[in-house]
Amino acid sequence: MGEARIIDGKGFAAGLRARVGEGVAALKAGHGVTPGLGVVLVGDDPASQVYVRSKEKALVELGMNSIDHHLPATTTQAELLALIDALNADPAVHGILVQLPLPRAIDTQAVLGRIAPAKDADGFHVVNAGLLATGQAGATIPCTPWGCMLLIRDVLGRDLSGRRALVIGRSNIVGKPMGQLLLQADCTVTMAHSRTRDLADECRRADILVAAVGRPEMVRGDWIKPGAVVIDVGMNRIPADQPGKTRLVGDVAFDEARAVAGAITPVPGGVGPMTIACLMLNTLTAACRAAGAPLPAEAAP
Ligand code: NDP
Repeated sequence: MGEARIIDGKGFAAGLRARVGEGVAALKAGHGVTPGLGVVLVGDDPASQVYVRSKEKALVELGMNSIDHHLPATTTQAELLALIDALNADPAVHGILVQLPLPRAIDTQAVLGRIAPAKDADGFHVVNAGLLATGQAGATIPCTPWGCMLLIRDVLGRDLSGRRALVIGRSNIVGKPMGQLLLQADCTVTMAHSRTRDLADECRRADILVAAVGRPEMVRGDWIKPGAVVIDVGMNRIPADQPGKTRLVGDVAFDEARAVAGAITPVPGGVGPMTIACLMLNTLTAACRAAGAPLPAEAAP
């Protein structure tokens, strides 16, 4: 067997963004509606500031409105909830994103739960999680797992019926919704986590392997079933060869895995760029729903 296909998440995400941009233009022309995302950042965490800035830039590039609310770290929960209420009531706001983590004094679940489910651009509200879990239409799917699903479909096609899928990680933002999506696509799904016995053995059975753990290069090449599709969600900073420098690696030992897998996402340039592209897609989808317009082709059902 030759080397794996390297799944070009960066290229796929660029194409998806362009298609979202076309969808935005069509919605403006056909319905006079410009999609708007309320972006709420509390405090001055540098990583969160970087993420928020790149989201706001992407929105503007695609012709959408970014309604920015950057609040001081001293913001109270009551003030934040009042802002969410105002954004919920504003017809120009189709999606709301609250950048996590929030300051410790604020109850994250209370804030996420206050967002109107139809405006929950990240898909973290329990109503959206419940719609996904019960296989109902209209759920907003969290951006990272939906991005993974689009990449898996790009490699294997839409029919994933009967394939064995293993998801390592069971977080509410990645692992659990990823497992639900694969189950909905008729895969036979195994969820692995820190208490899983013999993870290597579980991995060796998987036709589709999604790693969302946060442990650098944990999944080794000899854990992978020959020909498997490997989606590496992990983003881990480790020391680089040059002193004082770091580099980004995934949860999968890429060089070993690419010799065995059928297709694999690199880190960086794999899943990462899909996350923001899917946030753009979710915002457009919410605006289309609000306007009664047809949904984008790549939107979740
Ligand atoms: P969490 O820390 O919330 O979850 C990690 C999961 O990994 C947990 O379910 C945990 O199990 C499991 N786990 C930890 N150690 C092991 C182990 N030794 N063997 C098996 N399972 C283990 O992380 P997230 O889901 O938020 O993120 C996962 C990774 O994905 C991180 O590297 C993060 O940076 C990255 N990420 C990347 C994104 C992107 O855009 N590319 C977006 C979001 C995340 P348990 O539940 O038992 O504790």
